[in-house]
Amino acid sequence: MKRSVQREAILDVLRSVKSHPTAEELHAMLSETMPRLSLATVYRNLEQFSHAGLVQKIDCGGELRRFDGNVAMHPHQRCPECGRVCDVENSRLTELQGEMEKLLPALRCRTLRIELCGVCNNCSSAQNEQEVQA
Ligand SMILES: [Zn+2]
Ligand SMILES: [Zn+2]
Repeated sequence: MKRSVQREAILDVLRSVKSHPTAEELHAMLSETMPRLSLATVYRNLEQFSHAGLVQKIDCGGELRRFDGNVAMHPHQRCPECGRVCDVENSRLTELQGEMEKLLPALRCRTLRIELCGVCNNCSSAQNEQEVQA
């Protein structure tokens, strides 16, 4: 299989999901249709995409990296329980992020990230169930 086909497929899948997958998760999604695709290829392409500004790399601390096919500026919420990253749909925050980004040159900074920390819906409903059982 041609490399360009693999590249396209990786980018397509990443742009079609909202789960901000890791390289491993993307590899698992793609390996059903592309059994010969290696994890190393996924890693390499993701790094290239991120350098080229085609995808957004989300540093989750430590070795964990997640990727976002949506390169438009938007705030994220990270769940401290399961590590899931979700988009925060809040126009006020997005507006604020835009305002703050204009300050970056004066601060000699390049990028701005807004990351909220909060338990996701999955985990909060699981916690509620546990409380009911207890
Ligand atoms: Zn969670
Ligand atoms: Zn996102």
